[in-house]
Amino acid sequence: MSDGGQRIAVVTGGSRGIGRAVADSLAADNWSVLTVSRQKTTAEEGRPQEILADLSTAEGAHECLRTIKTLTNRVDLLVNNAGAIGEDESVLRVSEENMLASWRLHVMSPLLLARGLIAEFDRSSNPAVVNIGSVYGRVVDPDVLAYGTSKCALGYLTGALAMALAPRVRVNSVLPGHVDTDMTRAAPEEFIGQIRKETPLGRVATVGEVVAAVRFLASSESSFITGASIRVDGGFRLEP
Ligand code: NAD
Repeated sequence: MSDGGQRIAVVTGGSRGIGRAVADSLAADNWSVLTVSRQKTTAEEGRPQEILADLSTAEGAHECLRTIKTLTNRVDLLVNNAGAIGEDESVLRVSEENMLASWRLHVMSPLLLARGLIAEFDRSSNPAVVNIGSVYGRVVDPDVLAYGTSKCALGYLTGALAMALAPRVRVNSVLPGHVDTDMTRAAPEEFIGQIRKETPLGRVATVGEVVAAVRFLASSESSFITGASIRVDGGFRLEP
């Protein structure tokens, strides 16, 4: 199967942070990139084509899928990166709305996009899906219940999609620990200090370090890897 020149990626949550860095890195390598996010990015020359959608709703995910299909008939890479933590996600206070919106954003939309794009993946010679999970899908923290439970489910979805879409499409995930983005910068300095203490490598990650793992899983360098999760967390709260 020929890719006919430029490779095509869809990156959700591509307006800032990790998603934006992934989109920029791919675009710098001559990929054609479609990003999906809630807000429009300030216009800049050379920015990838943007789709506006709220992926925490069913309508948003379905509309997004329809729009992708009007823009391309081949997808080489889908990066399910859009993510958010709600206002107060502690076990005793998290709202039902927050729990359900997190489920939609971190599980349902990645599923709808991945299975909705099977025909587009079929036109690629090396199709891949990379889901951006979180170390909080692996370690329990009672203050991020909606986020942690849905990111945990995204790990299960990664394995299930890897099996269902094999051998054509490889599906893997990257689990960042704490990364230097708006999400982390919003946290109190005391919290970040504690994170550094609990991280053997003694710091938070740069977005570039997460991008490197995504690019590896998207490339033919990882041609025999599917259903895997790569932690990029400096050794934060290691598991056996
Ligand atoms: P960020 O807040 O800087 O960017 C999030 C992106 O997701 C934005 O483009 C935003 O528009 C998009 N988004 C959020 N909610 C959306 C919605 N309902 N519909 C459509 N788009 C939506 O976050 P980030 O730090 O770059 O995080 C990116 C991913 O990495 C997320 O999945 C996050 O859970 C994960 N992650 C981040 C960290 C970290 O420390 N920053 C750690 C672990 C995992």
